[in-house]
Amino acid sequence: MSMDLRDWVRNVPDHPTPGIQFKDLSPILAHPPVFRAAIDWFTEQVRSINPDVLAAIDARGFVFAAPVADRLGISLVMVRKSGKLPPPVVRKEYSLEYAETSTIEIRSDAISDGQSVVIVDDLLATGGTAMAAAELVEGLGGRTVAQLSLIELAFLDGRERITARDPECEVIANIVYD
Ligand code: AMP
Repeated sequence: MSMDLRDWVRNVPDHPTPGIQFKDLSPILAHPPVFRAAIDWFTEQVRSINPDVLAAIDARGFVFAAPVADRLGISLVMVRKSGKLPPPVVRKEYSLEYAETSTIEIRSDAISDGQSVVIVDDLLATGGTAMAAAELVEGLGGRTVAQLSLIELAFLDGRERITARDPECEVIANIVYD
């Protein structure tokens, strides 16, 4: 079934703060054939990269990464907002599109030396979250080979920041808003 996933993204103006166009993915999740098409797309990207580990970002990254990890038999690790994971963890503070700062954490034993990692999230905005996750991965000896998201807000230049920081890291999105 061919479909444009963009048709299933709901734009919510001024959420969570004035001036932000929130991209709500609930309609995708609520319609099984659409959700399956999204998972199919994620699966094809990950299959061709063939990483050792999928690192999923709390919380909407989990929704997309988990079925892919299951389908392909790839190890899944959670990158979580602070205070959720049991110790030992490593953490990184960073700034967000619509909030001041945020902190994410990963278990210190989640990734081992030399593993290739694809980071999965629902949406790439400024790239702050993606780069913070990449730093955590690299701090544990992993190598971020791709940043994979369903949506990219290209006007926020996340792709450029990620590539400037690490030219080897692919940036892949299905729906791009210019
Ligand atoms: P950033 O760190 O700026 O790239 O922001 C990406 C993270 O914030 C992702 O985890 C998204 O879920 C969330 N996010 C940022 N902007 C939006 C938006 N306009 N709509 C929905 N989620 C967003």
